[in-house]
Amino acid sequence: MLAVLTQAGNASSVHREGRRARAEIEAARESLARLVKTQPKNVYFTSGATEALNLALTPELELDGNKTPFDVLLVSAGEHAGVLQGHRFPATAIEKLPLTTAGVLDLAALDAALARHAGQRVLLALQAANNETGVVQPVAEAAARVHAAGGALVCDAVQAAGKAACDFAALGTDILVLSAHKIGGPQGAGALCFANGRHHIADTIVRGGGQERGLRAGTENVAAIAGFAAAVEGVAEAGASEIARLARLRDRLERDVLVSAPDVVSFGANVARLPNTANFAVPGVGAEVLLMALDLEGVAVSSGSACSSGKVKRSHVLEAMGVPSALAEGAIRVSLGWSSEEDDVDMFRIAFAKAVETIRSKRVKPAA
Ligand code: PLP
Repeated sequence: MLAVLTQAGNASSVHREGRRARAEIEAARESLARLVKTQPKNVYFTSGATEALNLALTPELELDGNKTPFDVLLVSAGEHAGVLQGHRFPATAIEKLPLTTAGVLDLAALDAALARHAGQRVLLALQAANNETGVVQPVAEAAARVHAAGGALVCDAVQAAGKAACDFAALGTDILVLSAHKIGGPQGAGALCFANGRHHIADTIVRGGGQERGLRAGTENVAAIAGFAAAVEGVAEAGASEIARLARLRDRLERDVLVSAPDVVSFGANVARLPNTANFAVPGVGAEVLLMALDLEGVAVSSGSACSSGKVKRSHVLEAMGVPSALAEGAIRVSLGWSSEEDDVDMFRIAFAKAVETIRSKRVKPAA
């Protein structure tokens, strides 16, 4: 990525520098295609997953040569804002599907919605794994149901990439969306990937010079795309051993939390979830206070849902799981990644124990 930053070529130019930039992009497209198991020509680079989701979630999406517009968008209640706010369907055409208390899409509710919309063309947006709880979603099962009803599925695989199954063969989805910065790549690069070649989007968003075969105009961010590909190669190389390493670190972290706060409540921990995510609340300990106390110790964690203003916002995911709001307000999310080590987990254990003790000792005791 750093080498590409020093090269000036525009990938649309025919001179040598341009051809070199083009070669970088096409090599990156091949890396992405290998990861998700599709053809390189089915991969489009965007500025991130949010843009890719905005682009895909339109009634005008054409798949398998089918030009009939989608009538209905079903979304799971735990989707990222890039889906919930980013789709381009009219408000009357959206239906939110509930999560179970474990944080998994309720497949019975999906069946009921598909039956209600029989005769209509349905698009389902379902993430591969949730960004707050790490809970893995039943994408293959949902895809089978949606396809049987003549519909299609868009899967936000941003969190699952490198940490769980994330390819067309395993997930059975029609579209996969990825983001570079969740797998160690740069911020500001994403991909929209199709399972097969017969696709089109008439109402594209970024229009202009026809780059990315007309789906996403604008001079390509070659360095970011090269960084994205490097991260994809890293993920592919690390494979299952990295997943096992992360799970060991996360499980240790959760055991440490239990020692300093035996009354801790974990969310999403009883079902299949990503190896790098822990989401929990300590009753009576607010997320904001805990976050700040940990930050002072050099530990960076998130609340259930950090909104762009930096304020702690109520988590729509925990709400959809039926977690009482008093408890949900204390939820913090600890994410581990490729650079996390045993030392980091040690540092967290010490900082967390200190923070909980300090916060609890300052709490006003109820009158006897
Ligand atoms: N989807 C999920 C599940 C995410 O966690 C994120 C980012 O946090 C996004 C989409 C948005 O990705 P980007 O930041 O590339 O727009």
